[in-house]
Amino acid sequence: MSAATDTQQFLKGGEWIIRESQPEDTFTPENFDEEQLMIRDMCNQFLDAEIYPILDRIDSMEPGLMKSLVAKAGEQGLLMTSFPEEFGGLGKDFVTSTIINEYLGAGHSFSVAIAAHTGIGTLPILYFGTDAQKQKYIPKLISGEWAGAYGLTEPNSGSDALGAKTTARLSDDGKHYLLNGQKCWITNGGFAQVYTVFAKVDGDKFTAFIVERGTEGFTQGPEEQKMGIKGSSTVQLYFQDAKVPVENLLGEVGKGHKIAFNILNIGRLKLCAAANGGARRALSETIAYAKTREQFKQPIANFGAIKYKLAEMSIRVFVAESALYRTAHWIDQKETELLAAGKPFNEALLGAAEEYAIECAMLKVFGSEVLDYVVDEGVQVHGGNGFSAEYNISRAYRDSRINRIYEGTNEINRLLTLDMTLKRAMGGRLDLMGPAMAVQKELMSIPDFGAQDEQAFASEKKLVANLKKALLMASGAAVQKLMAKVESEQEILMNLADMAINIFNAESVLLRVMKITAGKDGQGADIYMDIMRTYLYDAADAVNKAGKDAINSFAEGDEQRMILMGLKRFTKAEPFNTKDARRRIADKAIAEGKYPF
Ligand SMILES: Cc1cc2nc3c(=O)[nH]c(=O)nc-3n(C[C@H](O)[C@H](O)[C@H](O)COP(=O)(O)OP(=O)(O)OC[C@H]3O[C@@H](n4cnc5c(N)ncnc54)[C@H](O)[C@@H]3O)c2cc1C
Repeated sequence: MSAATDTQQFLKGGEWIIRESQPEDTFTPENFDEEQLMIRDMCNQFLDAEIYPILDRIDSMEPGLMKSLVAKAGEQGLLMTSFPEEFGGLGKDFVTSTIINEYLGAGHSFSVAIAAHTGIGTLPILYFGTDAQKQKYIPKLISGEWAGAYGLTEPNSGSDALGAKTTARLSDDGKHYLLNGQKCWITNGGFAQVYTVFAKVDGDKFTAFIVERGTEGFTQGPEEQKMGIKGSSTVQLYFQDAKVPVENLLGEVGKGHKIAFNILNIGRLKLCAAANGGARRALSETIAYAKTREQFKQPIANFGAIKYKLAEMSIRVFVAESALYRTAHWIDQKETELLAAGKPFNEALLGAAEEYAIECAMLKVFGSEVLDYVVDEGVQVHGGNGFSAEYNISRAYRDSRINRIYEGTNEINRLLTLDMTLKRAMGGRLDLMGPAMAVQKELMSIPDFGAQDEQAFASEKKLVANLKKALLMASGAAVQKLMAKVESEQEILMNLADMAINIFNAESVLLRVMKITAGKDGQGADIYMDIMRTYLYDAADAVNKAGKDAINSFAEGDEQRMILMGLKRFTKAEPFNTKDARRRIADKAIAEGKYPF
């Protein structure tokens, strides 16, 4: 494995598997600049002032309330930050828009409305619209005057989005497309003014359209009764010869898949951001509760079992954030590179997000699962009160669950992680073959018991490098053995995706902590070392387990024994007292009374 060269400072999508990264090339939340910190504070203030006091009213779907809150966020400039200046936006970078998604992400149903509006509700028009369409819709959408929604899913096509049945036919006078069909689960559907709707022209050409509220033949169903995010509007859309003007064709006929899939890459990263915002709030509430709730004549925060939970929740939030901003910054860098190469802004950001589609899929999975973990343990720490509607943690628990389902289910995103990686390798965009062969060769050789590297972080860096070898070895062997059949062996692909997610996270948190501690001169660095070492220690085991499960599914005899031996070698972590480390992390959280990092 070679370090990044001077000519290329940042890694391409998927390249972290075969190349080392340097902490100085890694963006972390500690690198937020003054303006980004100010925007973060604005988001927090908005939720404190406008959302938290009325969460029950929002969840009761008070008529007009959500629409007015979206408009209010628009008035305060929270919707326009990353949109181009020519449409009234502020033209800020992708990291800044990720910060907004993360910090507004703690607002329960409001966050869902905002995320859908600024993401899937607006971006298709911004990136694929004609100048006239952009001029007409974008200023209204980013000011919050109008809300946006996105209609892809149908009763019989969810994960298989291209299986949509809604059709579009050009009217006899050539002035309209007539849409017929039904969409379901449409976020903001009950109050949006503008919808991006996918339909098949002449029954087979998957195409996007801009449909306005009030279009003849276009109606909406009643609000769905949901398990969580109860204040988020979710309705069905019906089209009966709905008359959509031809000027509202979005992009090209038959190219709707480009819109649908490209927008999802960004949506997946943003979902991780929002989930992390939600997790941070739920965790802070849980820490505060654990400090005040007394049992056996002492705060429950004194108990080791509770400390374990508070620490583990903190570790996962910290790790998700590390991977999130590492990727968001890559997207910024790639976008800058594409702009410099003369690409128009829309192709530049979409191209940048496509470059990191693998990482976006992994972030979506990990971010949503961290949130689920945090709210679940949050309820547990709250005991019976966690089950009471009076405590916000029960709302957080219900609201969390959807995140593993939309923006591509976590199963689909795990499958995509591997599918996209292998396609990149086969298409020559990612050289997995060379490094995989090198690992095979290493397996045959006697392990190197040479002198221990005494440099700081040497053993952690070695562990991460070894975990990557484990992934290369297991995935290489699976592909060699199963060839094209690997695609239908989903259980193995899930195992390999879990290995990849753990390793990407492990490297991201290691780089972040290397960077933090370099600036600390030893002062206050230990707690970050605790987080990183605890995560790496657990990640090694998780990679080992997923690797074993994968290998045992396809290998046998001598080959199986050899690969399993390699796996054991590559996933061997130094002994580490995770109990004490977690106690120290929990104690810091308890002392601060909130998520402390
Ligand atoms: C509250 C809410 C809001 C939503 N908002 C929107 C919106 O604004 N716009 C929009 O267009 N859609 C929206 N959706 C739809 C959402 O994106 C879909 O629900 C999601 O993509 C899953 O589709 P499905 O529900 O049809 O499940 P299915 O596709 O039927 O999946 C069911 C299960 O099978 C698994 N599965 C499916 N295919 C495979 C496969 N090939 N391999 C392995 N496992 C598989 C899935 O992972 C899942 O576990 C929303 C949904 C909800 C619940």
